Amino acid sequence: MAEHETQGGATRRQATLPDEQGRFGEYGGQYLPPQLEEPFAEIVRAYHEIENDAAFIAELRYLRTHFQGRPTPVYHARTLSLENGGAQIYLKREDLNHTGAHKLNHCMGEGLLAKYMGKKKLIAETGAGQHGVALATAAAHFGLECEIHMGEVDIEKQAPNVSRMKLLGATVVPVSHGLRTLKEAVDSAFEAYLADYDRSIYCIGSVVGPHPFPLMVRDFQRVVGIEAREQFAEMTGNLPDVVEACVGGGSNAIGIFTAFLDDPVELVGVEPLGRGEAVGDHAATMTYGREGIIHGFKCYLLQNEDGSPAPVYSCASGLDYPGVGPEHSYLKDAGRVDYVTASDDDARDAFFKLSRLEGLIPALESAHAVAHALVKAREMKTGTVLVNLSGRGDKDLDYVIEHWGTGEPGDD
Ligand SMILES: *Cc1c(COP(=O)(O)O)cnc(C)c1O
Repeated sequence: MAEHETQGGATRRQATLPDEQGRFGEYGGQYLPPQLEEPFAEIVRAYHEIENDAAFIAELRYLRTHFQGRPTPVYHARTLSLENGGAQIYLKREDLNHTGAHKLNHCMGEGLLAKYMGKKKLIAETGAGQHGVALATAAAHFGLECEIHMGEVDIEKQAPNVSRMKLLGATVVPVSHGLRTLKEAVDSAFEAYLADYDRSIYCIGSVVGPHPFPLMVRDFQRVVGIEAREQFAEMTGNLPDVVEACVGGGSNAIGIFTAFLDDPVELVGVEPLGRGEAVGDHAATMTYGREGIIHGFKCYLLQNEDGSPAPVYSCASGLDYPGVGPEHSYLKDAGRVDYVTASDDDARDAFFKLSRLEGLIPALESAHAVAHALVKAREMKTGTVLVNLSGRGDKDLDYVIEHWGTGEPGDD
């Protein structure tokens, strides 16, 4: 996309990744049932046609400014930094992006692609409902139909997001087989797409899934890093020493990391350690996983003996995925990005600190990145840490109050 101009060396480096088969080293690719090969090939062709199309880029830029409210600011968290001791902490405010998180960045891109392809309907699955809401928002804007597949268990747990999707005009399809959660919803959405791919497009919610989604979603999210790099340099006259982001599938992290890959900047991805190291208690894919295949691509994967995805858990529903983006898997092996963990308790403490000291109630996902940034900043003593604050915490308030109270002494 046109942002390449301002991207410097990262563009030159990433121009070669992924390769034509969508591989980042040994990761990524396309592991599809034969019937889905042609529909995905159509998406690959369409994306390569429009990615440098002036009208497409101009429309996306217009929407980012006038619909989403971009650029989002970078904010120097002075009080938090002072209280914490050590390096200065800065936040890239994706919580101020429309719908309250970074996800709309790629959903608007996917919706616009659908429009250029002449498709009439967006199909996706959702777990906690965040991807479903962002996609339903894009569909409403573009006047497209939207069909969101969701396990019955999740529908019950995520009533406000189900209402939001319906308000935005989406159809929520309840999935009633198996465990009735995300995995079954993925299967159901794939089936619906297969039955209707002439007039619809499947929209993935992170830098995961078969080629071209890890590439395409990265390209739509890189605006975060491009803005942040410029804004930070303007504010401080320098680049940050460290950039941190939480990693579920990895879209907000890759979005900010991409701009700094060729800079002398330390990059840190923070995975959820949940309740601890036992299988089923966390979703720290790169820390405890090994190479495997899930949902049509190869990556680090938390898996059972037989290669099936292991059960995962985090208090942050956007982080509990057993796989991770293929580019992250590649960057880990290449030693360019460090992947570390933060537990539920760490995220809770950071959530309360940021709320009290800065007046910012973060998403629990983002609180994981803040939690590790606090540790890092204390270790560093001086310098700067830029954190991608991927979203706001409104969606998490019920969970927080029920489990931890309001954070006042004695209230938990
Ligand atoms: C979904 C979500 C995430 C995790 O997704 P990534 O693809 O890893 O970025 C992180 N933060 C927020 C606020 C989310 O909604």
